[in-house]
Amino acid sequence: MLENAKECTICHRLISTKFEGDICPACQEEMLFSKVKEYIRSNRVNEYMVADHFQIPLKKVKNWIKEGRIEYVEKDKQIVGTKCERCGKPVTFGVLCPDCMRLLNYNNKQIHLTAPDLNTEKDKMRFLE
Ligand SMILES: [Zn+2]
Ligand SMILES: [Zn+2]
Repeated sequence: MLENAKECTICHRLISTKFEGDICPACQEEMLFSKVKEYIRSNRVNEYMVADHFQIPLKKVKNWIKEGRIEYVEKDKQIVGTKCERCGKPVTFGVLCPDCMRLLNYNNKQIHLTAPDLNTEKDKMRFLE
């Protein structure tokens, strides 16, 4: 056995022992992604709620959407006349408009910054400090 490496229990790639857990980042993301998909499928949520629920950066969720990996089931049968619960603006999904979501998100920022995250994001945050 290598001293500084262990095997990912899923794909058996070697990962650094410095890395917490037994699953490599790629497999972690896959697992996370399937959970996210499941969550979206069974809840009426938007990307802000997804990011919040899984404590992942909104950017990541948006990327998945951009890549077409996530689709909102509600999208097509949307839902003329759905309005934001806070300000009454029309919304495409969820119960709050993006502005109000951002506001809530902003208030939760402290939680986001201290939450455990995937490694790459952690690195980025360190640079920002
Ligand atoms: Zn793996
Ligand atoms: Zn609103």
